[in-house]
Amino acid sequence: MEAAVGVIMRVPGLFIIDYWWQHDRYKSLPHSMELGEILNCVITNLVLLHGFLLLLLPLRHVQALYTHFVSGALIFSCHIVSSYYIDVETNKIVTAEDDPYFLRRQIAMFVFHGCLGGLISFFLKGPWLFVTPVFAVYIIPVMARLANLPVDTLPFFQNFCDAITGFNVLLYITYQIPTIVDCAKLAYMDALTVTEVHGLGTLFILLWNKLFVPTHFALFWLIEFFVKLIGSIYQVERLAWGDEWYLILLTTISSICASPVTLVATSVTVAYLSFFILCSTRAYLQGFSAFFHDNPMHSGWTEGLTLILLSFQTGLMEMKMPARMAVMTIILFIVLSSLLQSMLEIAEPVVLALSASRSRNLWRHFRALSLCFSLLIFPLYLTRVLSAVFPIDFWMMVVLSSCTLTSVQVLDLLVVHSLFLYDSVRFEPWENLDDIVYYTRAVTKVLEFFVAIFVVGMGLWESTSGKWNLVNASILLIHCYFNVWQRLQTGWRSFLLRREAAKKAKSLPSATNEQLSQLDDVCSICFGSMRAACVTPCQHYFHRTCLRKWLYVQDKCPLCHSVVTLHPTEDINSTQNEQQRTGERDMMHDAPAQ
Ligand SMILES: [Zn+2]
Ligand SMILES: [Zn+2]
Repeated sequence: MEAAVGVIMRVPGLFIIDYWWQHDRYKSLPHSMELGEILNCVITNLVLLHGFLLLLLPLRHVQALYTHFVSGALIFSCHIVSSYYIDVETNKIVTAEDDPYFLRRQIAMFVFHGCLGGLISFFLKGPWLFVTPVFAVYIIPVMARLANLPVDTLPFFQNFCDAITGFNVLLYITYQIPTIVDCAKLAYMDALTVTEVHGLGTLFILLWNKLFVPTHFALFWLIEFFVKLIGSIYQVERLAWGDEWYLILLTTISSICASPVTLVATSVTVAYLSFFILCSTRAYLQGFSAFFHDNPMHSGWTEGLTLILLSFQTGLMEMKMPARMAVMTIILFIVLSSLLQSMLEIAEPVVLALSASRSRNLWRHFRALSLCFSLLIFPLYLTRVLSAVFPIDFWMMVVLSSCTLTSVQVLDLLVVHSLFLYDSVRFEPWENLDDIVYYTRAVTKVLEFFVAIFVVGMGLWESTSGKWNLVNASILLIHCYFNVWQRLQTGWRSFLLRREAAKKAKSLPSATNEQLSQLDDVCSICFGSMRAACVTPCQHYFHRTCLRKWLYVQDKCPLCHSVVTLHPTEDINSTQNEQQRTGERDMMHDAPAQ
């Protein structure tokens, strides 16, 4: 409850800072030495200062600040109402005796000023209690009117009241100055201590933590969004929630992003939204208990950061409206691609586990597959829509291809999943399954690699056309390292390991029938009975395919952990081995289903 009140009380600070940036930024420094100009500048900076104070001060001081705002507004409204009252009284043609409402009006005014004066005194309580009742000073004109003084004298009384009030306010402020100075001194001392003990970095982090509170920004964004949304709906004039709804939405979102504050707020909102979507994906796949599973990569901040970095790089804030909307659409598309990729990263282990476990739970399969299909269709649909709307230049190709890649990866996942499913309904183990899965994955990896190469090529091409700067260069360099070089390395390493493992498994001698009947045991990898087996140097027996799969992962014997080496006799009796192996395979295929 208290936290909610705190958020509500601090958010207006963001509005003030945002307003300052969008409208008063250039008024903060005086352009000339004229009094009006300087006064304007001082007031602008004072208002800005209050914006920061609302965010930084402890909550109890923020409350005091609000009390003073309200008191100021009340004093001002007293002045306005009194002026209006005097206007009415001086312009009355009928005399007091003939006016049936005369007395009623006077009493109403009397009560109004009395109450407001009391309220202000209540708000501004303190050791200056003797001053504050004076705020009810606007009763004086009413008294004068009741005393039947001529109406011409009323403006004089009004001026007198204004003077008294002004003097009173000045007096109050003067009394407050020592407190304000004390507060500032205290804050300064605190900052000094923190800097001396922990260094300037800590002070900066403390300030940052106070200024950057995600919930404040999210609430700020929501308010801005709904205000602008209502505005744009009225601008469109017809309440078209038909095919134009997404245009209205995009216009609204991009019209918000006009200052750093709103941009940060948009990023925070996107981060929250992404987090929610990723959590929901997890909950959909694995049940509600998985909702708050902690993975820093899937906390939504990747998406938020992507948005803000791209916005700053493209200079989104300074753009005029139709252009800004176009750029915003592309940025949102990139963020969405990244979000879809994260969703796939969540779905992949679940689907693979589902294939491996050979679960017959149809509901689980349905959930996994429905998600996969939507991840397959949605990027393609988005790509189609975007390529229809925007001209396809090279950077656009990069953006679109990375999105399509998600679909390719999903397709790969689906193929692997269906292969495992097919394997599970077969009567005997499918010897080549592992290889087929490996090559399916390899095709996707190669495709990914080509896209990465393509991006590098585009970057280099772009550099020849003159649009070249440090940011682009560093992005390209990072991209080259992570997406091209590292992928190439891991891919090549896995290929070599695989070849090595296959070679080792192939080189091991087969067990003879006597050895097998003597052993009379199951394969300790798959627990299936052994009609044919190979023998490791450490004299352990496994199915050859089982051992090969095992060696893909690590090169140690599953039972005794001694390293399985390439069998040296391979060259001498390779023909004999080959014959034996053919025999083995025949035997395995002849084996009846268990
Ligand atoms: Zn086995
Ligand atoms: Zn062993």
